[in-house]
Amino acid sequence: MAARPAPANAALRRDIVRTCLEMNALGINQGKAGNVSARIPDGLLITPSGLPYAETAPSDIVFIDESGAPRGTRPPSSEWRFHYDIMRIRGEVGAILHAHPPFCTALACLGMEIPAFHYMVAVAGGDTIRCAPYATFGTQELSDHALAALEGRTACLLANHGMICVGRDLKSVLALALEVETLAQQYWRALQIGKPVILPAAEMRVVLEKFKTYGKPGPAT
Ligand code: 13P
Ligand code: ZN
Repeated sequence: MAARPAPANAALRRDIVRTCLEMNALGINQGKAGNVSARIPDGLLITPSGLPYAETAPSDIVFIDESGAPRGTRPPSSEWRFHYDIMRIRGEVGAILHAHPPFCTALACLGMEIPAFHYMVAVAGGDTIRCAPYATFGTQELSDHALAALEGRTACLLANHGMICVGRDLKSVLALALEVETLAQQYWRALQIGKPVILPAAEMRVVLEKFKTYGKPGPAT
């Protein structure tokens, strides 16, 4: 019997599965929750719906074309709409990670955003990490809320649900997700002992400016 041809983008498919396993190992997600996608020239690749990551093979990753039509052997993630909409509207985004991290989700269950309690909040592109209003998982309404909450940002919380991070590739989006969950944990801890001091908007503008060159190659300053 002839072997089935390997699916296109085999390396990227493997990287998507690896990213999912790593997000669970890092404690920023658990079980089958969450989903991950990566852009390809003619659409995107996304995790299948409701399949444990340890049982997900690269061939289970679903291709979604530019018209939003899925192609694969399994149904795409129930959240394919926000992955598709974000990729369509945010041309700079190459990868998207959605998870249910414990501390982000705890804040999101109170409908709380993450304010500028720490300068690192700027890692998500602004002086807050917004919380999108609640909508049922897998709906266009949730996608619309997520897009609005992500405007000018690379991360948002989803009320009574979890969080979304966007980035140029899978490696950077996973690193961002860990940063955002760490911030959520630090904020939650600070709230246990008092009222965190919020940095002024002007200071966050300074930090955002410094972040444009921070960690990038260039002359010593
Ligand atoms: P999927 O398994 O369909 O991706 O759903 C997980 C999830 O987190 C829904 O919001
Ligand atoms: Zn979810």
